[in-house]
Amino acid sequence: MPSAKHDLIVIGAGPGGYVAAIRGAQLGLDVACIEKVPELGGTCLRIGCIPSKALLESSERYATLKGGLDEHGIKLGRVTLDLPAMHKRREKVVSTLTRGVASLFKKNKITRYAGHGRLDGPGRVVVEQEDGPIELEAPHVIVATGSRSKPLAGVELDGDRIGTSTEALTYPKVPKHLVVIGAGAIGLELGSVWARLGADVTVLEYFDRILPGMDSELAKDALRLFKKQGLKFHLGARVTAAKRKGAGCVVEAEGLEPIACDRVLLAVGREPNTEGLGLEKVGIEVDRLGRIPVDEDFATGVPGLFAIGDVIEGPMLAHKAEEEGVACVEKIVNGFGHVPYEAIPNIVYTHPEIASVGRSEDELEEAGIPYKAGRFPFMANGRAKALGETDGRVKVLAHADTDRILGVHVIGPRAGDLIAEAAVAIEYAASSEDLGRAVHAHPTLAEAMKEAALAVEGRAIHM
Ligand code: FAD
Ligand code: AMP
Repeated sequence: MPSAKHDLIVIGAGPGGYVAAIRGAQLGLDVACIEKVPELGGTCLRIGCIPSKALLESSERYATLKGGLDEHGIKLGRVTLDLPAMHKRREKVVSTLTRGVASLFKKNKITRYAGHGRLDGPGRVVVEQEDGPIELEAPHVIVATGSRSKPLAGVELDGDRIGTSTEALTYPKVPKHLVVIGAGAIGLELGSVWARLGADVTVLEYFDRILPGMDSELAKDALRLFKKQGLKFHLGARVTAAKRKGAGCVVEAEGLEPIACDRVLLAVGREPNTEGLGLEKVGIEVDRLGRIPVDEDFATGVPGLFAIGDVIEGPMLAHKAEEEGVACVEKIVNGFGHVPYEAIPNIVYTHPEIASVGRSEDELEEAGIPYKAGRFPFMANGRAKALGETDGRVKVLAHADTDRILGVHVIGPRAGDLIAEAAVAIEYAASSEDLGRAVHAHPTLAEAMKEAALAVEGRAIHM
C-alpha cells in the first residue's frame, strides 16, 4: 500500500475539520485533510447551515412580498414562485462556498485526500481512495467526522417522501401538507421555509414545549408567533410511526389520530459519525450517545489522537466545531488554546429569529443562582418600528449580587446578529451596567440590548 507522512492529519472537512486544517497550516504544520464526499465544508456548507439559510432568506422574501407591502406604500402585481430558480440559487450559494474552502486548502498548501478515513493504530490512518487505499502517518490526528440525522424507530425513511433535513432542502414541489417530527431548530427552520412557500405544516413534538433547552419564556413567545404564521403544533405528541400510504404518507403519534400528509420531515436530532472509523482498532469506546470521549485538551487518551465538533460532547453547532478546531490545533502547537463554552451563542433562524447565549432563566432557577432579569420589547424600539418588525424582546439575566451577565436571550428582528454583542459581553465577564452604559447608535435594534441591560436595575429609558 502506498504511504505518506504529514505533521497533522484531519479526518473530515466540515467546519471543525477544515478550520483545524487551516489553523494548523497557518502555524507551520504540513497538514493532510481526508474527506469522503467530493465537496469540502461538511454538513454545514453542503446540507446544513448554508443551504437552509439560503432557502430561509428566499422564502422570507417571497412571504413578505406575497403578504403585501401596502403598509410601506408599495403596490405589487401578482407574486409567483419559481421554485427551481430558488433551488438553483441555493445550489450556487453552496457551491461558491465549498469551492471557496477548496481554494483555501490550496492557498494553505493542505494536502487533500478524497475517500473514507479509518484509524489503523496510533498515528496511522488508512484512506480508501477511488484508486486504492493509502496509508498516512502523523504524530497528530484529529477526528472531525461530524454527525448525521438521527433515525426514529417506526419512521420508515425512504429518501424521498419520508426524509430528513437533507431531503427537505430539495423538495421539487411545495408539499400540500408537510408533517415535521421534532420542534428543534432544524424542524422549525425547514418547517418555516415550506410554510412560507405555501405548505400546510404540522409540527409534532414529544415535549410539551418547543425548542427544548432554550429559555422557556422565549420558546413560549416563539410558539405564539409561529402559530400566528399558520404552523400547527401538537405538543406532548410522541411519534411512533411514519410510513408510505398510497401516493402519500401517514404519521402516527401517541394520543392523536393518524395524520395523512404528502411529506414527512424527521428532525429529532443528530448522532455522531463514528461508523467504520476504526475506533476499536485504537481502543476507543464511544459514550451512550455515540460520541468520542475527550478531555479538556480534546485528547482521546490514545497518544496523538484528538476529536472535535459534532462527534464529541456539546452543542452540535458549526461555530462550536470551528472554535474547537482552532483551540485543538493551538494546544498541539503552542500548548494553549481555549473555547469559551459559557459564551457560545445558539440561534434559530426562523422569523423572527431566536438567539441565546449563556444560561437560560430555567437553568438559573434550577441551579438556585440568584439573578435579576431586564426585559425590553422591540415594540418600544424606534428602528424596529421603522422596520415594521416589533414582535419580540431582549432579556438580560445578571447575577443578583455581582451584576455579572449570566445569559442573554433575544427573540425578534435580526436576533442572530444582535446576540454577538452579548456573547462578547459574557466572554469578557461584563456586568449589565457595563452593557447598559455602552453607547449604542440610534436608531438601531441594538438599542434594545442596551435598554434590556438598563432594565436589570429598573432604569430602561424608553419603557
Ligand atoms: P460536519 O460538518 O458533519 O463534517 C464532517 C465531515 O466529515 C463531513 O463532510 C463528512 O463527509 C466527513 N466524514 C465523516 N466520516 C468520515 C470518514 N470516516 N472519512 C472521511 N470523511 C468523513 N449549525 C450552526 O451553527 N448554525 C446553523 O444555522 C446550523 N444549521 C443547520 C441546519 C441543518 C439542516 C443541519 C443538518 C445542521 C445545521 N447546523 C447548524 C449544524 C452544523 O451543520 C454542524 O454542527 C456542523 O456541521 C458540525 O461540524 P463538524 O465539522 O463537526 O462536522
Ligand atoms: P433538536 O435535538 O434540537 O434537533 O430537536 C429535536 C426535537 O425532536 C426535540 O425537541 C425532541 O424532543 C423531539 N423529538 C424526539 N423524539 C421525538 C418523537 N418520537 N416524537 C416527536 N418529537 C420527538
